[in-house]
Amino acid sequence: MKYYSTNRQAPLATLEKAVVKGLAEDKGLYMPERIKALEPSFFDHIDRLSFQEIAFHVAQAFFGEDIDEESLHNIVYDTLAFDCPVVPVTDHIYSLELFHGPTLAFKDVGARFMARLLQYFIRKEGNRNLVNVLVATSGDTGSAVANGFLGVEGIHVYVLYPKGKVSKIQESQFTTLGQNITAVEVDGCFDDCQALVKTAFMDAELNARMQLTSANSINVARFLPQAFYYFNAYARMKALGKADKLVVCVPSGNFGNITAALFGHAMGLPIHRFIAANNANDIFYQYLQSGNYCPKASLQTIANAMDVGDPSNFARIIDLYQGDHARISSLISGATYNDSQIRQAMQSCHAETGYILDPHGACGYQALREGLLEGETGVFCETAHPAKFKETVEAAIGSTVDIPERLAAFMKGRKQSIEVSSDYDDFKQTILLRDAPAAP
Ligand SMILES: *Cc1c(COP(=O)(O)O)cnc(C)c1O
Repeated sequence: MKYYSTNRQAPLATLEKAVVKGLAEDKGLYMPERIKALEPSFFDHIDRLSFQEIAFHVAQAFFGEDIDEESLHNIVYDTLAFDCPVVPVTDHIYSLELFHGPTLAFKDVGARFMARLLQYFIRKEGNRNLVNVLVATSGDTGSAVANGFLGVEGIHVYVLYPKGKVSKIQESQFTTLGQNITAVEVDGCFDDCQALVKTAFMDAELNARMQLTSANSINVARFLPQAFYYFNAYARMKALGKADKLVVCVPSGNFGNITAALFGHAMGLPIHRFIAANNANDIFYQYLQSGNYCPKASLQTIANAMDVGDPSNFARIIDLYQGDHARISSLISGATYNDSQIRQAMQSCHAETGYILDPHGACGYQALREGLLEGETGVFCETAHPAKFKETVEAAIGSTVDIPERLAAFMKGRKQSIEVSSDYDDFKQTILLRDAPAAP
């Protein structure tokens, strides 16, 4: 299958090119040329299939032409080494828990899939040069990418992060891994890290000496696999007899996660309607009300992984529905919550149901609380484990949040990082030196 750019100026790309390049030459986002509708019989008996079986079937629709069946099967089963269960919170509201992966956030699914797909292409090409993944992070992306690629042969990952500006829990998730993961601690802010990565991709000399690629969240190999868990959520709700008028609510920042759900819908997944829940960064919400898209500088909130003022996947949503605002706003509704409303949602959910939300999931839960209509059942994504935001959550609910074993394990590890200034040449020399083969 070929991939086109949302800007329609770049040539069609193969899956391999779309995955390795990430962004098209015209700066557009890659879209699959076709979205295959799945056969009705699949949905009739979907509740009898396992998560992995469902995911493999969905994966074949996207990647089946480009990857042999056995390899794709292995990639999917290896990616989904953990469950994404649907858990009841109230009679009508269910939590799709996406935090059971290695870094306790939903980005694990996409990052693990992308790592394995990239490895497949490297092996197929017989490429003996190491592929270097550069990723700048303000926290969660770095940990998901580092853990997703950990131990994947033929790939080395550099995670650039701002010194002193990432929480200890987050930092431990990518600085303690070793192996093929190098944490680069930049004396600067997140924008400096991003600038270093951007300059590196444009540096002809560096690119001639090292094979570089990004693991950005707009990559098709990171965003499409997120559709898997929406099919699974539908299946589990169908098994409960609650799938008739299912409303899926996604706490959204860059809108990759909800776009994957919309792709599922386009493949025939019977979701009744969607809600995009935002924090105070309400650009999409405003678009739904007015039809005008007005990107803004992002505001800092307690649901910080959603602090996005110009959601990159908006272009994919517009492309999917040919910019038809009436269609988009009838299928998707919006919600927006400021920090005090998010705290209030965590507090009341805990008091009323005993369920502990993280600040991102809290936006999703609250949007269903306020927005579900008679006869509908809602599923919201719980995108991160509440222990990742321990202080904020504990202050809101007034009781303690236990740290899961695998999160605690990261914090016991030994920090390993390379320190660099925010000067590009300093960074370049550092990674060139690291990449150089050891003297005989
Ligand atoms: C990345 C992230 C989001 C936002 O997801 P998008 O795909 O960017 O909309 C929400 N919650 C958490 C915890 C995240 O890490």
